[in-house]
Amino acid sequence: MLGAIEAGGTKFVCAVSDEQINIVDTVKFATTTPAETLQKVIAFFKRYPVTAIGIGSFGPIGVKAGQADFGHILNTPKLAWQNFDFLGVLKAQLQVPCYWTTDVNIAAYGELQAGAAQGLSNVVYLTIGTGIGAGVIVAKKFYYGLSHTEVGHVLLQQQPSDHFSGSCPYHQGCAEGLASGPAIEQRCHKKAAQIPADNPLWQLEADYLAQLCHNITLMFVPERIIFGGGVMHQKQLFPLIRKQLTAKMNHYVSLPPLDQYIVPVGLGDQAGIIGGLYLAKKLVNAE
Ligand code: ADP
Ligand code: ZN
Repeated sequence: MLGAIEAGGTKFVCAVSDEQINIVDTVKFATTTPAETLQKVIAFFKRYPVTAIGIGSFGPIGVKAGQADFGHILNTPKLAWQNFDFLGVLKAQLQVPCYWTTDVNIAAYGELQAGAAQGLSNVVYLTIGTGIGAGVIVAKKFYYGLSHTEVGHVLLQQQPSDHFSGSCPYHQGCAEGLASGPAIEQRCHKKAAQIPADNPLWQLEADYLAQLCHNITLMFVPERIIFGGGVMHQKQLFPLIRKQLTAKMNHYVSLPPLDQYIVPVGLGDQAGIIGGLYLAKKLVNAE
């Protein structure tokens, strides 16, 4: 059997499947302390004969094999998790091969294998939720430089009409600080889900997300940009983003038809777990 862990900053999801990625069991629980959370993860997987586990973790995380911080959670604002050797603890307890990458990378991989990016080689998966993160796949591989990318924190041009100071504690004017779910809610003093679809806030949100797509397009030239995360339940954002991207790009690069270029996640909230299972399968097949 195959295993997957989607380790989020607020919740963990674990699943096991057969070799054809048919999910057999899933469990979800809140992210608390590393010891308590990992104990639940380990108890779940000990019930099944898993041969490999694909893990996608919140970050930043160490992703470069051979480096001392590989498998660790790094400089997270969640202090209890700082420098936690996630992969080391898991491997010691479960004794199975584990594939380790970011939460957004496993979702990007799920989309590549079984979702909205099937048949492609170069895609960016963006989540617009509690944070903004990007899984970047180039030539069917995760893109790492010194580490994984931090596309959610690129700087955007703030609209003159927008006086919000931003929700990111590190940067003034980054995408996450201007356009994540908490940014919307702090700006409007309302739950994002309760803001009507015709509220001008969504024009502003689409402008920021179109700027993000503009930058991603110019830097990675992906074949497709896939949007997931809670905020993208606002389906009216898609045509607004496409329209604003067209205006900003001003025909500088030629793009596929935009309804095929800027698309919603194909696997919904299963993208990460399914990607994790495919990564586990890849590990098993490589042995
Ligand atoms: P996480 O990023 O923690 O994994 P989500 O992707 O569900 O979780 O993102 C949560 C964020 O998405 C919250 O800030 C919430 O305000 C926002 N959100 C959830 N549902 C909606 C919705 N229907 N419309 C707009 N925003 C939403
Ligand atoms: Zn930031």
